[in-house]
Amino acid sequence: MRKKIIAGNWKMNKNLIETGALLSDLKSKVGNVQAAEIIVAPTFTNLHKATEELKGADITVAAQNMHQAENGAYTGEISADMLKSIDINTVILGHSERRAYFGETDELLAQKVDTALKHNMTVIFCFGEELQDRKSNNHFSLVENQLKNGIFHVDPSAWKNIILAYEPVWAIGTGETASPEQAQEMHAFIRNAIGKAYNQEIADEVSILYGGSVKPNNAEEIFAKPDVDGGLIGGAALDAESFAAIANAI
Ligand code: PEP
Repeated sequence: MRKKIIAGNWKMNKNLIETGALLSDLKSKVGNVQAAEIIVAPTFTNLHKATEELKGADITVAAQNMHQAENGAYTGEISADMLKSIDINTVILGHSERRAYFGETDELLAQKVDTALKHNMTVIFCFGEELQDRKSNNHFSLVENQLKNGIFHVDPSAWKNIILAYEPVWAIGTGETASPEQAQEMHAFIRNAIGKAYNQEIADEVSILYGGSVKPNNAEEIFAKPDVDGGLIGGAALDAESFAAIANAI
């Protein structure tokens, strides 16, 4: 059965002290949410602290990125093996900020996906259209291409380790959210595309999260849609109270 998931992407926010404070708040506020798997993604330097702090709590710690190579001369980068060695088994790949500011292409992301899966990690694969794509009615084909080029090459057996996050770029950090109907329409399209590329069983099993200005006041109506299996939360994940309210909306 496909899982409900609420994931918080902390981006480049929270130093070590602030991370400890938010995690201890989260432990009490979302540590016992049963209706969904809870994932938090602090920055690299605080991942080890997070796994230590959350020992025994029902909260998964994820990385926000990783390099595609096993190791080598890639100054400033982090490998899958490094993440695994501190008990990080989940990684966000393809976030729109990585695509826009760090030049990550579908082809590069396909390599990152392969490396993560090879290390038996769970991948939260992000994708979504920009405003001009939606305005020109190009959003469905753009999303389908991102999937085809970034992740549809993986073996069917790998899908048990894949979570998709549809994040329309125009809704990220802007306060503008896709309407529940727009989210449902795209999620149904994505599930259908997986069914065509693979089979209906895989399509039915994969969790598809929505991301883009999800807040406590809009979470419930978005999560109520049948093909929306939870959310990838940015800004509202930085506050334990609002993240807990979103988690409880599932
Ligand atoms: C995100 O960056 O993945 C995101 C959804 O951000 P926000 O919730 O702030 O729009």
